[in-house]
Amino acid sequence: MLTVRGLSAGYDAVDVLHAVDITARAGELTVVLGANGSGKTTMFRTISGIVRPSAGSIDFDGRQLPDLSADSIVKAGLAHCPEGRHLFAKMPVEKNLMLGGYVRRRNRGRVRELLEHVYELFPILHDKRHQPAGTLSGGQQQMAAIGRSLMSDPSLLILDEPSMGLAPLVTAQVLDAVAQINRDGIGVLLAEQNAQTALRIGHHGFVLAEGRVVLSGTASELLDHPDVREAYLGV
Ligand code: ATP
Repeated sequence: MLTVRGLSAGYDAVDVLHAVDITARAGELTVVLGANGSGKTTMFRTISGIVRPSAGSIDFDGRQLPDLSADSIVKAGLAHCPEGRHLFAKMPVEKNLMLGGYVRRRNRGRVRELLEHVYELFPILHDKRHQPAGTLSGGQQQMAAIGRSLMSDPSLLILDEPSMGLAPLVTAQVLDAVAQINRDGIGVLLAEQNAQTALRIGHHGFVLAEGRVVLSGTASELLDHPDVREAYLGV
């Protein structure tokens, strides 16, 4: 369980997030909606230890994440799959995946299981495991980026706009896989432009605007909320 309270953070002493409260319950899929620049990425980067908070607390299963290094945060079970895919283009797909398993390298058996699980979820990655990651299509690269995050054996996976730049059919495949990951018992914190699909597969959601939480509720409450319908569902 992730509990963010009163979180403020930003860049160069200018806060982008202002006293944000967000909870991601264990095993649930939590959706974060918000226009470009509303602070979703900054919130995720603060949770995963890349950006230092200026105020507030981030509790993850009883630990204060700002006290931990980014590496220890991954070891504690929180994986962050950033926007953009950040794969090593010339490196084979499987090696890219294995990099995600680095924090579990002492447990070779577990790493092997995780890799098999990623290949079950994304059979295309198994077919292309020896190819350079840069030769994959955009959707396949996104699958590889998600797979790499799964290799760290997370209990909570943060996904920042996994469908960015993907065609609708590929977006649907990627979000189906996200739903499957969640059904497999991994908590997911998802920022996604496709609000309707995200809320359909999600349990709870939050709406950020200008670095503040302006709305929160169950996914079905948000799907029915007039502000969400107008701003995100085009109704
Ligand atoms: P997007 O969907 O476009 O990524 P977002 O909701 O994730 O948007 P952020 O990327 O967190 O929003 O950006 C929030 C604000 O922080 C924006 O005003 C942005 O210009 C600013 N910002 C983001 N990254 C940096 C940075 N590295 N240095 C300075 N300002 C930044």
